[in-house]
Amino acid sequence: MNIVMLGTGYVGLVSGACFSEFGFNVTCIDTDRLKIENLKKGIIPIYEPELESLVNKNITSGRLKFSLEKKENIKIADAIFIAVGTPARRGDGNADLSFVFDAAEEIAEYLDGYTVIVTKSTVPVGTSLKIKEIIRRKNSKASFDVVSNPEFLREGSAIEDFMRPNRIIVGLENKRSQDFMARIYKPLFLFETPILYTDLKSAELIKYASNSFLAVKISFINQMSDLCEKLDTDINDIARGMGLDKRIGDKFLHPGPGYGGSCFPKDTNALVQTAKQYNASTSIVEAVVEYNEKRKKSLVNKVVKLMGGEIKNKKISILGLSFKPGTDDMRESPSLDLIPELIRLQAKVSAFDPVASKEASKLLKKVNFAKNLQDCIKDSDCIVLLTEWSEFRSLSPRNLSGLMNGNCIIDFRNALDPKSFLNGKFNLYQIGRGKI
Ligand code: NAD
Repeated sequence: MNIVMLGTGYVGLVSGACFSEFGFNVTCIDTDRLKIENLKKGIIPIYEPELESLVNKNITSGRLKFSLEKKENIKIADAIFIAVGTPARRGDGNADLSFVFDAAEEIAEYLDGYTVIVTKSTVPVGTSLKIKEIIRRKNSKASFDVVSNPEFLREGSAIEDFMRPNRIIVGLENKRSQDFMARIYKPLFLFETPILYTDLKSAELIKYASNSFLAVKISFINQMSDLCEKLDTDINDIARGMGLDKRIGDKFLHPGPGYGGSCFPKDTNALVQTAKQYNASTSIVEAVVEYNEKRKKSLVNKVVKLMGGEIKNKKISILGLSFKPGTDDMRESPSLDLIPELIRLQAKVSAFDPVASKEASKLLKKVNFAKNLQDCIKDSDCIVLLTEWSEFRSLSPRNLSGLMNGNCIIDFRNALDPKSFLNGKFNLYQIGRGKI
């Protein structure tokens, strides 16, 4: 079977590499010439654990190729996966579908023989039907089916998530495309992965509903942590006590600086916009969007307060820049809210991230990007832990003494062991944990 991935970003590259590992012939196509040239040489454009070895293994086996060329590859494809970006449209929060519709026009032009066109990108309800219309309008004789197969992989564990997913959602219109999709996902049969076949619109909505629900859960525990600070109680106990209830579950109950990343912010906004178009209420999600934005914007106030009200000329060391560990993705990262504000207030900002410094340096100015943790912390007045990379977890008074100038440690991920900071010379702040 010949599979074409249109779009070779986080989703297209990971999915393409994994499909080739399943044994299919995969060509990953992108409009970004440099990206494709690098991939042909085995240079991976993103940081994602295990991706490099999987890509190189499948290039060597001859099952995975990279190309800029659409015509010939689309002609011989049995399945074409659309995995282009769907960023938030400037100004109104709707998903920008221009990349998806451009891809549909290109597919229509070159289709040859029965082909299944699968949308992996996260797209609003009704988009798969619009893709079908575009192709039908441009190529009335084309033989094809459209399928919606939203992707649920998480950056940082994308390969594992793709290879052993919790579930696969497939929206479609007929038995022929269902049999085809069953063949594509047959390799996951061994793990007894549940596959839900549904209609196109339901599949599209399941993706937005899932991401929005997780965003609600994160914001709920963040609000509880705000309350814990007022009550002088410990959010970690509250989260554990709640999470032990199987109806609630312990995942996504970790307080933090506010969610970021390439999905939750844009997908919550897009769901709200869809609901507005259909005159339905998603007031819960609207409240979450507003609260999360405010939370990220208020991080600077917390830092200033914990540093005694003045940060001018103070050296502040930021540990972690990506929106979560395991990735160099900077999209909507809380660091992009906090660091420019610290600089505006004339703090001297030094930052270290195990993999995201290069990406961050394209977006953040006047920051000293340290080469390692020690250089970042040296002579610092305050440490702010923003992304919970495991190498930061072992920080303790013992390895900080002698390095820092001040004694303020702000742990926005509750990743440090508070016991080791008891009775020491450092003031450790953790979210929602009262006095430590
Ligand atoms: P990305 O920005 O990393 O990659 C998109 C790629 O598509 C880019 O390389 C771009 O050059 C390419 N592209 C754009 N138009 C093209 C065209 N006409 N032909 C070929 N290539 C084209 O995006 P991503 O993070 O991989 O996300 C893709 C989609 O998957 C989005 O809808 C996103 O919401 C969804 N998604 C992302 C994740 C994630 O963790 N990143 C998880 C699940 C779902």
